[in-house]
Parts: sequence; structure tokens; C-alpha cells
Amino acid sequence: MLQTHAHIDHAGLLPKLVKAGFEGRIHATEGTRDLLTFMLPDSGYIQEMEVEKLNRRKARHGKSKVEPIYTQADAERTLEAFNIVAYERWIDVGHGVRARYWNAGHILGSASIEVEIQRGTDPATSPLRLLFSGDIGPDNKLFHPDPDAPKGFDYIICESTYGGRLRARKTPDERRKELAGEIGKALENDRILLIPVFAVERTQELITDILTLQEAGEIPTVPIFLDSPLAIRVTRVFEKHARNLEELSERPSLLGNPNIRPTESVEQSKAINRVGGGAIIMAASGMCDAGRIRHHLKKWLWQRNATVLFAGYQVPGTLGRLLVDGVKSVKIHGQEIKVQATIRALDIYSGHADGAELVEWVQEREPVSRAIFLVHGEEESAMLLKAALVEHGLDGERILIPALDDEVELLGEKQLPVFRDVERRLPLDAPIKQDWHNDLAQFSFDVREVFEQAADDKARAKLIRRLRRALDND
Ligand SMILES: [Zn+2]
Ligand SMILES: [Zn+2]
Repeated sequence: MLQTHAHIDHAGLLPKLVKAGFEGRIHATEGTRDLLTFMLPDSGYIQEMEVEKLNRRKARHGKSKVEPIYTQADAERTLEAFNIVAYERWIDVGHGVRARYWNAGHILGSASIEVEIQRGTDPATSPLRLLFSGDIGPDNKLFHPDPDAPKGFDYIICESTYGGRLRARKTPDERRKELAGEIGKALENDRILLIPVFAVERTQELITDILTLQEAGEIPTVPIFLDSPLAIRVTRVFEKHARNLEELSERPSLLGNPNIRPTESVEQSKAINRVGGGAIIMAASGMCDAGRIRHHLKKWLWQRNATVLFAGYQVPGTLGRLLVDGVKSVKIHGQEIKVQATIRALDIYSGHADGAELVEWVQEREPVSRAIFLVHGEEESAMLLKAALVEHGLDGERILIPALDDEVELLGEKQLPVFRDVERRLPLDAPIKQDWHNDLAQFSFDVREVFEQAADDKARAKLIRRLRRALDND
């Protein structure tokens, strides 16, 4: 198993694989392994907790229990299968296959992986050469040099997450200036600033920029509470790797800074409640759908002297997205809370290359003799990336967007890969179904809008009666 990086959409099912009997090695960089040392057991723990909650509900309705996909113990067992690989050095993975890892500039430890497969038994025959992009970072990213990899492949498998998006290019100074503007406004008159954070990379990027701004005297030197046990542990991994991370080599300790207050225990976390103002509180999760941020939101959302600053993409259906979209009130822990705090969103931190940067990355890998597969993106993003590559002179016939369950012959003599006949889990034209949670969140949002815009309370009472009737008839 060749692992590109630690993000849970790439590594989250490794414990399921091990639980199902996989006995091979998982090859990964040291950074990836170190991050997963906390992320996989955390993910196992969350699943155990969620399943326990679900089973209690099921028991009440006399329904049979379900099992977690994997447990914390399965995740810990998975960590033993890791083999650490260095960047830019070939490793033999057996059966005539060797691999080499390249910096992908996406998150700590992330890699694009070059793979060579021996054809036949004659060692004089040139091997089949492939490159898996993994997730590719943007240029000018904090901590990492721009993505790198060699040239000349038979096949490239390239991500297309933001294939259809173009972002304004910002220098590190411009980025920090924008952040300083937001923080300065948020902290005026001793107000409070909440930042919902993702534990990996975004937390460390924000802390680094905030400390730099504080030291330069560009924002008030208020305490910064880091209220997330996972984010604290992940920050320690960044400190361990500081010498290899651009902005951290001169600032090896983030948690040791006197302005940073890591709050690991529940008591420490609760003590933050006594802070009246003049502070920054960073807490997980980044989209506010779980974690300690919900406690802080409950305390501060209805207060006008608070600002909530989002620094990452908010998926539709999450509490974070509802807030960014401007809802007037939300429900947290079963309690209705009026939103009176200022809600702001910053789109200057990204772990992903945009469309133009992906095109550049592919162009730098040319020539590609056989085909390029575009993966890991919504179909629209992949199509737009394909169009952009064609516009830059690549042959559209050789750019393929595979579907779920597709199998292709790569070793054949044909110049283009041959797709096999396969049994599919979903018909090819099946519309992608939205999760019902998203539908419900959208529906509640719409209902609230209708009620707020209703003429008066009499009209609202009538609406309630009509909705009740619809529910009773169901
Ligand atoms: Zn990723
Ligand atoms: Zn990804």
C-alpha cells in the first residue's frame, strides 16, 4: 500500500483494510505516519462513540445493533503496518514494482508517488512509468516548497479537486495583511474572536501567521486559546518536523509561545468561559459540526461583541455553512440561539492547487506517452480541468475521467488504456444522491426563511397548521 498523505479522505479506511485481513506494509513518509498516529485512533474513537449513540437509539425502537467500521484498537494495530519512506529515494515494493515519493506541497508529509512496473522478465525492457499526484498543494503555501516531481511518464493519475476554480494569487505578505485586517476589526474594544479550525495544517498555519502579526505589532497581543486536544497533538507533530517546514524552521515551538494557551483538559477548556473579551479562541471542528467550538458558539453567538471567523471551505449542510450563509438563529445542543455575533469568512488559506496550478503541474510532467486520468474531484471540476488542459495543447483523447469501479488494462501494447467490463455498484448514469442530512439542513433553512418573511404571527400560525397536517398525513 502506497499512502500519499494523512488526510482522512485518503487514509481513513486503512484500519478497515487491516481489520479485513490486509497484512502488507503501508509505505508513507514520516510526517504522514506521525499525523496518522493521532488521526486514525481519533477517527476510530469517534466511530465507536457515534455507533454507541446510534445503538442506544436503535435499542429504544427495538431495532438490531450496528458495528463501527473500525475501533480505536483497530486503528492502533494499523499503525504497526507502517514503513517509513524518505522523499526522492526509490523503495522496492516487490513483484517488480518500485516507487519514489516527491513533495506534493499539500500538507505535512504529503507526497506524489512515482511508480515503475517491470514489463516481462527481460530487465532490458523499459518499465511502465506512472505518477500518482495525491493531493497537490498551491504555490506559495505556508510551510512547504511548491510541488515537485520528475517528467516523462506513460500514465499520470492526477487529482482535480479545484480543477474548475481560479484563485487570486496572494503573496505571504498580502495574505497576512488580509488576516490582520480581520483580526484587528474583530478585536476592537476588547471584543472576542472565535476561529473554528481544522486540526491538521490550518491550525498551524493560522497560529504561525497570528504570532508573526503579533510580533510585528500589527494586531493586539491577546492570548490565543487552542481548545482542541487533537489540534494540540497535531501541532506537536509539526514542531517535531519544524526543521523541514519553511516558516517553522525559525520558529520551532508554537505551543511554547507565551501567547498560546493550549487547553487539553475539559477543566481548562471550561475555564475559557470566564474570559470576558480580548482573546482569540481557536477550536475544532472547522465546520462546527462537532467538537468544543460548539460550546464556544453557544456562549458567544448571541453576543454582539463576538466575531466568528471561518478560514476554510464550509460544506453545505454543516453548521459552519449555515452561519456563513447568514442564518438568523441556529440550534446547538438542542437550544435555539439567535445569531448576533459578526460572521466573517476568509478564503486565503488553501491546501489545494487551483485549476491553473494543476495545469502547470501536469505540463511540467510532460511528455506523457499514454494517458492522463483525472480523479478525486466532482465530475464538473474534472471536466473543467480537462478542458483547460486541452486548451493548453494536450490531446483530449488521452485525458480520461474514470467512473467509480472502472478497471483499466495499463500494461497492454495499446497506446490507450483498455477499460474492462466490470460489475458496478451504481449504474453509470445514477444521479449522485445528496445525503439526507444536507437535504434536511437545507429544508430547515428554507422553512425558517418562510417564517421570517411571513406577514404576521397569524400567518405563521396558519403555516404551522398546514405543515402539521402534511406531517400527520405522511
Ligand atoms: Zn488532502
Ligand atoms: Zn483529498
